[in-house]
Amino acid sequence: MRNGGRASLRDRFPCSRRALLTAAAALPLTATAASTGGRTAAPEDDTARYFPRHGSYGHRTVAYDLRLSYDPDTAWLDGHATIHAVTNRCTRRVELDLARLTVQSAEIDGAPAAVRQRDGKAVLTVERALAEEQPFTVDIRYSGSPRPVRTPFGAIGWDRTGDDYDGTVVASQPLGAPSWFPCNDRPDDKAAYTVTVVVPDGHHALANGTLHERRALDDGSVAWTYHHPGPMASYLAAVYTGRFAHETHHADDNGSPVPLRNAYPAHLADRARHDLARQPEMLRHFAALFGPYPFETYGAVVVDAELAAPVENQTLSVFGRNHMDGRRGSETLVAHELAHQWYGNSVGLTDWQHIWLNEGFATYAEWLWSEHLGEYDAHDLAGQAWRELSRKRQNLRIGDPGRSRIFDDRIYVRGACTLHALRLALGDEHFFTVLRTWHDAHRGGSADTEAFVGHAERVTGRPLTTLIRPWLFDRTLPRFPV
Ligand SMILES: [Zn+2]
Repeated sequence: MRNGGRASLRDRFPCSRRALLTAAAALPLTATAASTGGRTAAPEDDTARYFPRHGSYGHRTVAYDLRLSYDPDTAWLDGHATIHAVTNRCTRRVELDLARLTVQSAEIDGAPAAVRQRDGKAVLTVERALAEEQPFTVDIRYSGSPRPVRTPFGAIGWDRTGDDYDGTVVASQPLGAPSWFPCNDRPDDKAAYTVTVVVPDGHHALANGTLHERRALDDGSVAWTYHHPGPMASYLAAVYTGRFAHETHHADDNGSPVPLRNAYPAHLADRARHDLARQPEMLRHFAALFGPYPFETYGAVVVDAELAAPVENQTLSVFGRNHMDGRRGSETLVAHELAHQWYGNSVGLTDWQHIWLNEGFATYAEWLWSEHLGEYDAHDLAGQAWRELSRKRQNLRIGDPGRSRIFDDRIYVRGACTLHALRLALGDEHFFTVLRTWHDAHRGGSADTEAFVGHAERVTGRPLTTLIRPWLFDRTLPRFPV
C-alpha cells in the first residue's frame, strides 16, 4: 500500500507537467478587507464556473488562522481553524469546503453553529442572520486522517511522503485544499494565512511565508508558526512536514532580492543545493522583466517522493526528489514555478477557465530563462513548440478549454506561443511593459482573459484583438508569427 501510494503520487501534480527544454499573525480585519483584492461580487448565477461545487459566493475570506497538530506515526490531524471573513449577502448559512475530515464543533462570532457535512462541504448555520457586508469570525475544531481529494485530475491535496511514510506534502492545485482545512475553495478568494503546525521533536514543518516562531512544548513536540500576508488562494496554501536539511539566505547574502529558504531531505542535499543554486539569479532576472518579486520570501521544498511535476505553492514551490538530479536537468521547471509567483499566484484567476494566463506565462518564462542563459532563443523554442502543436489535434480553445482539460499540455505551449506572437508584434520594449504593468495592475488580485487583452490594448494603444483572439479562441492553430 505504501509503494502503491507513492507511485500514484506521481499522477497527482498537474502543474507544469511538461518541460519543452528537454531538447502572518492575522491582519486586522479592517486593513485586509480592502487589500485582498478579493472583492468579487456574488453573481446571480455562478454555474458558469468550471467547478461550481467548490467555493461559495456567500462570503469572502480575509484571513485564515490554522492551528494543526499532526502525528506522523498515526497520520492523525487535529485542526483548529479561525476564519475571518465578510458576507456578500444576508445569510444564516456559511458554506465551507472540507473533505474527509470531521468537524467537532463550530461557532460563528462566538455563537454555536449547527454543522452539516456532506459531499465535501461543511455548512454552518446560526440562529441570527448575518447582514450583508458583515465581518464575522468562524471558529472550527476538526480532526481526522487527511487524504487527497478525488478530482477529475486524480487524487489531489494532503499526502504522505518518505520511505517511512512519515512526511507530508500538500499540492492542492486545483481542488485539493479541502483535504486539510475548511476553506472557501475558489481561485479568486484570497486571504492572509497564519499556520501553526505541531509535530514531534525531530520533525520539521514548513508553510507559506515566514517562520515567526519555533516553540518547544511541554509534551516534547514543537510548534512551528508561519505567517504569510498573501493574499493567497486556498489552492496555493501548503504544509510540508518531515526531516529536512534547511538552507536560508538573507536577501543580501546571495544577491536575491528577498530572503530565500530551501529545504530538502539530507540525503539529497548535494544535488538539491546544486540544482537550486541559480534561483537568486532567476529572481533578479525575472524581477527585471516582470517587475519586483511580489512576496516577502521565496524558496523551494524538495520532498522525499517522486512527483509527476512540481507545483508553485505560494512563496514555497514544491519539487519531487526526481526533479533533483544534480545536473540541473529540471532547471526549466525551477524557472517555471518561480515565474508563477508573479503570474498565477500574485495575479490569480477569476476562474480556472483562464488558466492559460498562468501556464502560458510560466512556460514563456522557461523560454526567457533559456534566452538569458544563452542556450536557445525564445524564438527558436517557440518555433519548435509551434511545430509540435501543428502535429497535434486542433480541437482545443485554450482560452476556454473545458473543465476536464485545464491541464492539457497544449494550453501551456500554445499559451506561450500566444505571448511570443504578441512580443513579435509589439517589440521587446512594449511587450515587457505589457507584462510588467499587467502584474502591477492586478497584483494580489484575480483577473481574466478579456482583462488581459484589454490591458494590452490600452498599454500599447494598438488594437490587438484580431492578433490575440485566434490564438486563444480558434481551435485551429494560427500561422507561426514572423
Ligand atoms: Zn505551471
